[in-house]
Amino acid sequence: MKPQVKSLTFGLLGYPIKHSLSPSMHNAGLRSLKIKARYKLFEVNFEKLAEFFLNIKKKNIRAFNVTIPYKEKVIPYLNSLSVGAQEIGAVNTVVVSRNGKLKGFNTDYLGFAGHLKELKVKPYRVAIIGAGGAAKAVCFALAKMKVLELCIYDIDKFKSLSLFKRLSSNFAHTRFDVATRIEDLKIGQKDLLINATPVGMHSGDPCLINESWLHKGLFVYDLIYDPAETKLISLARKYGLNCSNGLGMLLYQGVFAFKYFTGKKPPVKIMQEALIKGAQKI
Ligand code: NAP
Repeated sequence: MKPQVKSLTFGLLGYPIKHSLSPSMHNAGLRSLKIKARYKLFEVNFEKLAEFFLNIKKKNIRAFNVTIPYKEKVIPYLNSLSVGAQEIGAVNTVVVSRNGKLKGFNTDYLGFAGHLKELKVKPYRVAIIGAGGAAKAVCFALAKMKVLELCIYDIDKFKSLSLFKRLSSNFAHTRFDVATRIEDLKIGQKDLLINATPVGMHSGDPCLINESWLHKGLFVYDLIYDPAETKLISLARKYGLNCSNGLGMLLYQGVFAFKYFTGKKPPVKIMQEALIKGAQKI
C-alpha cells in the first residue's frame, strides 16, 4: 500500500479576513497543479497571535500570507527576513522551512510593480496618499523602478516623515518629498497618483482630491478593489484618464506568494479568473 501523502496547509493570517479573496485565488491555483494542499483563513485576534505561531508545526502549516493588522507585528516571531521585507519593514508572506524556521517575504511590492508593468505604466513623477503598510511596499517598488520624484502625503505626518526618511536613506536616484497638506502633492505636475489609504472603501467616504488637479497625463491608481470603482476611480473615468483599481496588485502579490509556497510556476490565468469571479460576488 502506498503511504498517504499528508495534505499541506497554506493560508492567510489577519483580522478580520472573512471576506478575503485569497482562498479562491490560491485554491484554484493549487487544484489546477494537482497539489495536495488547502489555503485556509487564519482569522486570529491579537491575544491569540503568539499561540498561532506556537501551533504552526502541529497544524502542518507550510507557508502563509499576512494581512491587516499583522504585516509588521509578525516580524518578531520570524527567524529571518528577505532583503525586500527588511527594507520595507513589513511582511506579507511567511515560509516555514523543513526544520521549522520562519522566513518573511514581501510580495506586495512585487505585486504592485507587476501590475504597473502589465498596465504599461512607466511613471516618472508620483504622488501617493497614505504612508501605511501598503504605501511602504508601493513606495519601495517605485524607488526600485527609479522614478524621478515621489511625494508622500498622510494624515499622520509622523508616518509620512518616517517613510520619507527610510526611503531617502536607501535610494539616491529618486527625489522624495513630504506634503503636509494634500494640495502640496502638486498632482497637476505628476504622471501617477496613488491612493494607498482605506478612504473610498465605504459609500460615505469622501473623494480625497479636488477635480481641478486632474489632467490628461495623469494615471490614477487606487489600491482599493472593493468596491471596484471608488469615487476617485469614477472621477478619473469622468475626465477620461487612464486608471486602475488594486485587483491586479492583489493578483500579482498572490502569484509571487504562490511561487514561494509551492516552488512551482504559478498558473496566473487560473488564479486571475478565480479572483475576478470572487470579486464579482462581493
Ligand atoms: P494602513 O496601514 O492603515 O495605512 C493607511 C494610511 O492612510 C494610514 O497611515 C492612515 O492614517 C492614512 N490615512 C487615512 N485617512 C487618510 C486621509 N484622509 N488622508 C491621508 N491619509 C489617510 O492601511 P494599508 O494596509 O496601508 O492599506 C491601505 C489600503 O490599501 C486599504 O484600502 C487596503 O485594502 C488596500 N490594500 C490593497 C492591496 C492590494 O493588493 N490591492 C494590498 C494592501 C492594501 P491613520 O492611520 O492615521 O488613519
